Amino acid sequence: MDFYTNMQILDGKQASIFYQEQLAAESREFETITGKKPHLAAVLVGNSGPSETYVAAKMETCRKVGFQSSLIRFEPSITENELLLEIDKLNQDPDLHGFIVQLPLPAHIDVNKVIERIDPAKDVDGFHPVNLGKMAKGLPAFASATPWGIIKLMEYYNIETEGKHVVVLGRSQIVGLPMSLLLSRNSRPGNATVTVCHSKSRNLTDMARQADILVAALGIPEFVKKEMVKEGAVVIDVGLSRVPDETRKSGYRLVGDVAFDEVAPICSAITPVPGGVGPMTITALMQNTMVAARQQTGII
Ligand code: NAP
Repeated sequence: MDFYTNMQILDGKQASIFYQEQLAAESREFETITGKKPHLAAVLVGNSGPSETYVAAKMETCRKVGFQSSLIRFEPSITENELLLEIDKLNQDPDLHGFIVQLPLPAHIDVNKVIERIDPAKDVDGFHPVNLGKMAKGLPAFASATPWGIIKLMEYYNIETEGKHVVVLGRSQIVGLPMSLLLSRNSRPGNATVTVCHSKSRNLTDMARQADILVAALGIPEFVKKEMVKEGAVVIDVGLSRVPDETRKSGYRLVGDVAFDEVAPICSAITPVPGGVGPMTITALMQNTMVAARQQTGII
């Protein structure tokens, strides 16, 4: 394949190894001081295949970095009120530093009510409005794990964002919106000029083509084609979709929102799927958990 000169794969697995080694050292130090490990719990309602996979990966990463982990399962029939009461218990559990509720939830449960019930001090996914608001104001907060992982990935690869035009495709509360806030704030990485596009945006191809850094977070497999990408752009592919593939034992393969094979050759840097943003999301979750553990035990 004829790649752009010096095209770089932004390898989220490699960056994660680097950050997770730091976390393992911090975790050991925390245990020496407190006699306890940082403790992360994941709440899983039902047993959808992708959610099981994501939660298992999070629990496995806890083991790697020396955290305690708990997987708390509920039947898909759990009522909204029952789930809210379970969240109250986790909020009050002094042995638990952070927890996540794996999304999506069954349709009969209001996801916003659930997120708003989580104590912001334990909201290591960074979904609570208090954390989103503090992050928007540039105050210390748990930033949403996926965009925070992307920030750490950019830092690892020295991707300059200052003064760059970033186009974010997608404005979801857990990816697109916090990504745009993090990149536009007065910090490094940050200080970018950010355009946010969504399903009502017009001339998406023209918009995307203006990007020095293009972040694709739509959830539409291979939506971004080469005509949407400026030569030399940095492309961050957040999308993760399962598409049927009879040649695979699993019957599916994972694809991103970017048509990698045609876009990669014209980029200066690009994240692969899998192995780009996904591992960094988990690493960012671990970093947030480490901070939560320190804050709750008074260790700065
Ligand atoms: P989401 O909540 O469904 O949001 C999708 C966004 O894309 C919305 O803002 C939507 O616009 C916009 N959009 C949809 N179709 C569009 C179109 N044709 N043109 C322009 N904009 C369009 O999804 P999400 O939670 O942000 O996730 C996005 C993708 O990232 C999914 O594939 C998800 O699996 C993946 N993801 C990966 C990770 C990871 O760790 N790798 C983590 C989180 C998410 P409107 O607002 O107008 O509806």
